[in-house]
Amino acid sequence: MSILNIVTFPDSKLREKSKEIEKIDENIKKLVDDMIETMIENKGLGLAAIQVGVPLRLFIIDWRGVGEDGENDHKNHDIKVFINPRILNLEKKFIMENEGCLSLPDLRADIERYYIAEVEAFDLSGKKFKLKGEDILGVAIQHEYEHLEGKLFIDKLSPVKRRFLLKEYKKKRKND
Ligand SMILES: [Zn+2]
Repeated sequence: MSILNIVTFPDSKLREKSKEIEKIDENIKKLVDDMIETMIENKGLGLAAIQVGVPLRLFIIDWRGVGEDGENDHKNHDIKVFINPRILNLEKKFIMENEGCLSLPDLRADIERYYIAEVEAFDLSGKKFKLKGEDILGVAIQHEYEHLEGKLFIDKLSPVKRRFLLKEYKKKRKND
C-alpha cells in the first residue's frame, strides 16, 4: 500500500465529473487499498477517488471512525467502499457544523445537509448493497457523492461567505 497525494483546491481536477467503473479489477483493488491508507494517514472520514486524481465513481467512508462528539476518534476503523453509488433517498434537513474536506485543508464551514442519506452501491466483491447513513454519516455520503459530480462543499456557501473563506484559505496556503 502507498500513501497518495491529495488533489487540493483550486486544482481543476476536482471539478471533473467521475466515470462509472466497468470492472472491479486488481487496479481498482489497489486504488482502494491506497485510498484507505491515505485517508487514515490524513485523519479523514471519507475520500473520493477524484481527490487522489482518479476520475472514477468510487469513494470510501470510515463508518466507525466517528466518536460520540461527532469527531473522528482515529482508533476504530470500519471502512466502507462505495463503487458506482446512487443516492436513493434524502430526508430531514438539518444544519451540520464544521464540515471539512481533505482537498481544502484547514477550511471548515457550517453546511446545511439532509440528516439521512440512503445509498445503493457495489462493494469490492461486486456485490450490490444498500446503506442508510444518519447524522455525520449521512453528511459524509452527501459530501463524498458530490465529489463524483465535481462539486465541493464550499459551493453551498453564500457568495459572500465563500469569498471570505477562500481569501483566508489562499492566504494560509501561500504561507505554508
Ligand atoms: Zn471532500
